[in-house]
Order: sequence, then C-alpha cells, then structure tokens
Amino acid sequence: MDFGWTEEQQMWRKTVRDFAQKKIAPRVREIDSTSHIPEDIIRGMAEIGLWAPTVSEEYGGQGMNVTLATIAAEELGRADISLAIPVMYLVEASWGFIFDRYASPALKQEILPKVTAGRAFLGIATTEPGGGSDIEGATRARGEKQADGSWLLNGEKLYISGIKESLRMGGIHMTLVRTDPRAGHRGFTFFAVPLKDNPHVTTTLIENWGRTGISTGGFTMENLPLADHYRIGEEGRGFYYAMEGFTFARALIGATCVGAAEAALEMGVEYIKQRKTFGKPLAAYQGINFPAAEHFTDIEAARLLTYKAAWMADEMYERGAFKHKDVALYGAMAKLRAPIMAFETFNEVANWLGAMGYSKEYPIEMGIRGVRSYSIGAEGGMNIMRMIIARELIGGEYTNPRQ
Ligand SMILES: Cc1cc2nc3c(=O)[nH]c(=O)nc-3n(C[C@H](O)[C@H](O)[C@H](O)COP(=O)(O)OP(=O)(O)OC[C@H]3O[C@@H](n4cnc5c(N)ncnc54)[C@H](O)[C@@H]3O)c2cc1C
Repeated sequence: MDFGWTEEQQMWRKTVRDFAQKKIAPRVREIDSTSHIPEDIIRGMAEIGLWAPTVSEEYGGQGMNVTLATIAAEELGRADISLAIPVMYLVEASWGFIFDRYASPALKQEILPKVTAGRAFLGIATTEPGGGSDIEGATRARGEKQADGSWLLNGEKLYISGIKESLRMGGIHMTLVRTDPRAGHRGFTFFAVPLKDNPHVTTTLIENWGRTGISTGGFTMENLPLADHYRIGEEGRGFYYAMEGFTFARALIGATCVGAAEAALEMGVEYIKQRKTFGKPLAAYQGINFPAAEHFTDIEAARLLTYKAAWMADEMYERGAFKHKDVALYGAMAKLRAPIMAFETFNEVANWLGAMGYSKEYPIEMGIRGVRSYSIGAEGGMNIMRMIIARELIGGEYTNPRQ
C-alpha cells in the first residue's frame, strides 16, 4: 500500500497546474459565454503534451499512463469549473488511448499525429436518438461489408461531443455501428468517420445549458462508403472497446469533478473567512463550517475512488493484475460519486455566497451547469453506474435488465 506520489507524478501535476492556472483559469467565463475554446489554448495544451497524452510517442503523444492522465484531468477541472476544457481533454485522452491501442498502424499514422498536435479532433459516437444506455438494444446504425471488403455505413448518432470542433479542425469520430445484427453485443465494430467535408454526412448542433465551450450535436451517415482501412480494431469487438473507453473516461470524469469541487470549496472558504454576519465571520458558525468539513471529506473520498480506478487500470494494462470488469467497477464507483459530490459542493458554496452566489460574478453557476452533464449522461448515466456496481455485488443473473 502506497498513497504517495512519485516525483514524475508531482512534476506533471505542477506542469499542468502552472499552465492551467495561467492560461485557462482567467478565460473560463469567456469560454462559457462564447461557447468556444480559443485556438491558442488548444495549441498551448498540445505544446505541453496535454492533447491526447495517452497516445504513444510514435504518433506524437507521451504514452502516458492512466494515473498521469487522471492527474491532468484533476488540474484541468480545478482551472475550468465550467468543465468544457476537461471534457475536451478527457475525450481526446481516453478515446485517443483506445484508438492507439486498437487501430491499424496505417490508420494511426494517418490520424493520430494531427490529433496529438492539437490540429484535429478525435471524438466518440456511440449514442443514437433511440438511446445511449442500452447500446445493444438501441443501436440502429449499420455497417455492411461490400464484396471488395470495403464498408457502407448508414445511421444516426446523437448527443455527440465535438461536432463543431470536428467540422472546424477536421479529424474523426470513433463511430460504433452494428456489423452483424445476429451477434448481439459481439456484432459491433468501430469505424473512424471523418465529419468535415464529407458529402455522405449531415451534422446538427444541440444547444446545451452547461460546459458550452465544447459543442454537442449529431450526425447522419447516408450510404457512407469507407475503405476497410478505417475500421478500428477487430470486427465484432467494438462493444468491448467501447466499454474499455468508458472505464478510462469515467476515471477522468471523477478527477475533473474532484479538481473543480476543490477549487470551489477553496473559493468558498476564502469568502466565509471574510464575510461577517452578526458580528462574526461566517466561518465561525458551525452551520457553515460543519458543511465545509463534510464537503472537504467528500472530495477526498471521491479522489480516493478515482485514483484507485486509475491505479487499477494501470495495473491491468502494465501488469495484467486485474481484469477489465474489476477496473470497470471502480470506474463506475468514481463516476457515481464524484459528479454528485461536485454538484453538492458547488451548491453549498453558492449558499455561502448569498445573493452573489446566484450572480455571474462568481463562477459557481458554471460549475452547477457543467457538472450536470456528467450526472445526466456523458460517459453513462448514474443508473448505469449503479447497474455495473450491482452486477458485481449481486451477480448478473439477478441484475441483468434484459432478463
Ligand atoms: C453533454 C453530453 C455530451 C455527450 N457526449 C457524447 C459523446 O461524445 N458520444 C456519445 O456517444 N454520447 C455522448 N453523450 C450521450 C450519453 O452517453 C448518453 O446521454 C447516455 O449514455 C445516456 O443515454 P440517453 O441520454 O439516451 O438516456 P437513456 O438511455 O434513454 O436513459 C434515460 C435515463 O434512464 C436511465 N436508465 C436507463 N436504463 C435504465 C434501467 N434499466 N434502470 C434504471 N434506469 C435506467 C439512464 O441512466 C438515464 O438517466 C453525451 C451526453 C451529454 C449530456
């Protein structure tokens, strides 16, 4: 048992914190109100290796492990309480990792160097209008193999992050389609689908009420021809790759919530030390400082769950010490606890601030809006986390929703 940080981890945290506090934190309101992450921030992130750092060095990444990627997510959450940049980062880091792990060397060579340089977007598209939780039941998008080995894709993806960014920067969305309708969850395959300048793709945008710096939308594929070169990994393994990516992304979500909640709590603590009512600072009242103690503890509990999930993932990848289902359990636990913890912390701090807490003078409202994207849906809703946890605790024979 070792709860300490290595020198490398401490140095990486410092690098990301210095960058994020200097270059991102002062611009969060601008990002939220313009619904746009400025190019110079993206370039700056890429320069210090923060754009898909998990991709191997051969393709311009840093070959970073899950724990280091999680540290960066925490620091980005601390700097951007709206959570737009953390979302952008976590999509690139977790799904870039899956792409690097499974795509062919030729496809990686074509896509990844541009992604790691911050010049292309790599997104994930599993959700459809018919639903996101039940991929096996709801996926209608199809990929049909042609006589020459190429593919024809048809179908619609919706509530997908990074549509506008992909149209602007280029890149691909890792798109999950059914390639063998008779094979259940073993009948899915991922393809790299470029959205920009693609005559077979029509895109739409959705207006969100939180973490507005990164766009959400959808796209329809109509008789989209794709060479087999654009298949990601093995035919029929797409569902498994999706589950693996979700687990990674959930650890990163846990970390962004921890970072953002801690930043909000620190801000709140500064305020309650200054603000006086009835002749004393707010901080002197147990009605204020007891909840502060509770939130401080909740943040630490979420942090421990999050880093346990990250550590287990590294142990799985580096030493084969765990199976994916073990890591998925902790990823789900982190995702179940951290967004609610962050929401409750933001809400409490907003109370301490009084009327100012309801104004845009303080960034708390951006956090409240942003973090709800994590508990409502992104990378799986809360009941899906409960389903994963209950399955491990009680057994799939009792908890499978299809039975
Ligand atoms: C801001 C944002 C960005 C997103 N970005 C992406 C993206 O980049 N790529 C992508 O593929 N998807 C993305 N999503 C979609 C996300 O993955 C889905 O929202 C999520 O999987 C839930 O799917 P759904 O919204 O269709 O809800 P549904 O699947 O319709 O579920 C509705 C509600 O019912 C609950 N529920 C479902 N089944 C059960 C059950 N058996 N028992 C109890 N409760 C249940 C769910 O937890 C949810 O609360 C994004 C979502 C948001 C909000």
